[in-house]
Amino acid sequence: GLDRVLRPGRIGRLVLPHRIVMGAMHLGWDHRDDGGRALAAFYLARVRGGAGLMVTGGAAVNPAGADVPSCGVLDDTAFRARLRRVAGEVGAAGGLLALQLFHAGRYAQPTPGGPHPVAPSAVPSPISRCTPDALPADAVTRIVEDFARGAAHARDLGFSAVEIMGSEGYLIDQFLSPLTNRRDDEWGGDPQRRMRFGTAVVAAVRAAVGPDFPVVMRMTGDDLLPGGTDPDTVTAYARALAAAGADALNVGVGWHESPVPTVQALVPPGHWVPVAAAVKAAVGPLPVLASNRINRLAQAEAVLAGTPLDLVSMARPFLADPALVERSRHGRPVNVCVACNQACIDRSLVGAAVSCMVNPLVGREADPATPAGPAPHVDPAVRAGSTPVDGPRTVAVVGAGPAGLRAAHDLALAGHRVTVYEADGEPGGQFRLAYRVPGKADYAETIRFLTAELTRLGAQLHTGRRITDADEDLLRRHDGVIVATGVLPRRIDLPGDGLPHVRDYGSAFADDALGQRVVVIGGGGIAVDLAHLASQRPDRQVTVLLRGERLGPRMGRSTRWAVLAELRRRGVQVVPGVRDLRVDPDAVRLVDGTGAVRSVPADTVVVAAGQLPADALVRTVRRAGVWHRVVGGARDTGGLDAVRAFAEGHDAALAF
Ligand code: SF4
Repeated sequence: GLDRVLRPGRIGRLVLPHRIVMGAMHLGWDHRDDGGRALAAFYLARVRGGAGLMVTGGAAVNPAGADVPSCGVLDDTAFRARLRRVAGEVGAAGGLLALQLFHAGRYAQPTPGGPHPVAPSAVPSPISRCTPDALPADAVTRIVEDFARGAAHARDLGFSAVEIMGSEGYLIDQFLSPLTNRRDDEWGGDPQRRMRFGTAVVAAVRAAVGPDFPVVMRMTGDDLLPGGTDPDTVTAYARALAAAGADALNVGVGWHESPVPTVQALVPPGHWVPVAAAVKAAVGPLPVLASNRINRLAQAEAVLAGTPLDLVSMARPFLADPALVERSRHGRPVNVCVACNQACIDRSLVGAAVSCMVNPLVGREADPATPAGPAPHVDPAVRAGSTPVDGPRTVAVVGAGPAGLRAAHDLALAGHRVTVYEADGEPGGQFRLAYRVPGKADYAETIRFLTAELTRLGAQLHTGRRITDADEDLLRRHDGVIVATGVLPRRIDLPGDGLPHVRDYGSAFADDALGQRVVVIGGGGIAVDLAHLASQRPDRQVTVLLRGERLGPRMGRSTRWAVLAELRRRGVQVVPGVRDLRVDPDAVRLVDGTGAVRSVPADTVVVAAGQLPADALVRTVRRAGVWHRVVGGARDTGGLDAVRAFAEGHDAALAF
């Protein structure tokens, strides 16, 4: 059950309908010149899906506080006008929205013509790759006032609460930590003085909004930095924030520069709950929120049952499924966030508009009929000779991987009669390879969600049914065909590749019969996944051979370093710059990047050297003369990732 999660909660005078809070996310469209239409539609979709209190993405309290150009600044009257509309529409719909007050400090990216980043001390930032200016004492006081003014704006604009962004290594954290605060004045020098900026901000915000307006403080429970803030200081700080007037503490974990993964898929769900629980133990009755790597309501229920924590903050799960709470309440399948970070965090790090891999509608709530794909979503050659038809329509979707399932789901949702044909015995396509990779088990949930929705919407799914040339007549009986037949492993010419211990990556993912010594040939994301999977057995030696210099060059910025660190920890050997490969019965011989001839012992050799479109059906469909779209890997494998596959499936459904 979800008894605890669905029980009303409270922050100060604010009564919450349940115990889930939607955490702040930089969406990357604060600056959109649309009067706030897109932002309002984003939050309204979540209100309709049962969200209780939601926190906006960070709004900078002054221009130097913005981390990227797409971050809204509260001094900007046009931004405030957009926020007024957002707060008004959310309030009118019965939603609760807190404005997050934000200052990036040294994490701000310097922009031409913009203010130079500022911080307590001139300590270089690996995130923004700059050295900030150290703030003079009077400028520190002015920033405290900026937070207070921002809070007053929030109240006047119609928000239900404010959250002060004091975690993740932004300015307030930079004052707290001895690593970034090297001052010796009233704002630094010992823990007491380093805490002063955060508590001064809370007190000033409290004074600005009065005693009744809810103030949430987001703080770091553990910065995961060697030499960072120690646990005793965190405890004392939490108490000081409460005394300064915070109504609740929302506990984050890690800074953006911490060498420990916090929100990546390989972090087990619920891993950071003890950090928030320690803060709760320090502050007694004050409400405390847990956050980071909790992606289902059932997990939130377990947190509330197993600890004295009061509330659970979930952010990305509300991108993946705006109706997360309503669906969970009624026991319906949820589109689970798989923690890939590909369309959300990786984009927000560079200030780009955020979306979601498993939910391409994110960012287009105001205009759901506009295509999602950043890539060209319709191949003109395919469009030729194809004419959409009007009226009630039947559609065949060939292939039940990400692109096909998304297309089928959206077509069925639009009321079309959909039949999906999948050659394999199970739906999932390339996602099925991912299920077994550590941290990617939730990819199965995406497929489960889409297939459950297809059933609910009355679509037919035929597995084990390969559509071939012989099915031209069958295809012709449909008003439209979506070709989503996916990819084939690319073969490379390799002396010895006919030997029995050489496998393609598809079959290597599928069974456990890999030998003791595994060599993976390839340098992309699939090679990384395979190495990760194979290295789960501690007695196995795994070596990755790549032609290029960088393993996983297209992996997302927030994920790549964490996964590569995990491979290193598991003893996976990576040999870059290889050439002249030859497979022998017991080893792979090669010349490595230094020009040395090497022999790597191998019982199993797996080739993961890219993919080719599995597009044999396109000719048949063309011949049938039926309206069609080719999507995902079947259309093009260049730059293919699951974000593009889902978006193309979605766009094909829109185009029908
Ligand atoms: Fe979750 Fe990936 Fe969607 Fe981000 S893009 S919300 S991590 S599923």
